[in-house]
Amino acid sequence: MLEPPASAVLVEAFVNTVDVEEASDEIATPAGLSAWMGKRGLPGAPGGITAGVHADYLALRAGLREELGAHVGDTPDPELLAAADRVLAGHPLLVTARGTLTPAPGLPPERAYLAALAVAWNELVTTGDAARLKRCAEHTCAWAFWDVSKNRSRRWCSMKVCGNRNKSRSYASRKRQAV
Ligand SMILES: [Zn+2]
Repeated sequence: MLEPPASAVLVEAFVNTVDVEEASDEIATPAGLSAWMGKRGLPGAPGGITAGVHADYLALRAGLREELGAHVGDTPDPELLAAADRVLAGHPLLVTARGTLTPAPGLPPERAYLAALAVAWNELVTTGDAARLKRCAEHTCAWAFWDVSKNRSRRWCSMKVCGNRNKSRSYASRKRQAV
């Protein structure tokens, strides 16, 4: 079963709001975040997205991207992980009767969605599926992807593009060393 579960689709879409290669970021501003949420059919924040909420989303995204980088062997930045943890600590979750997690009631919609992202991530970690969600090992790309390979060995979002880029670069550096 290599189809990504809904939780992986959600986390993947969130971490890919930034496109490293194109140097673009859909949620770079509170208005951008609000528009992105609207596109996903989420109720907007009644008073608009505050700077604090926006900063929390960016910190969570940065932390998640570090986690996905670790899945291709990159060393995560502990400060980014700690910052994401601090955000999560401010978004309480409850355990349901079925033993799953859910955002605590009473959170405003924009915060409940952040908590829902935490729930999705937790689900992936619990099932072990998190290991299939990776950040492309080609750092100029850094696109998040779901690894469909049987042994979860993929390191690049596309072998054709990023895998080959990496190969030709290591070939060039081997040649340089040989000279
Ligand atoms: Zn890539």
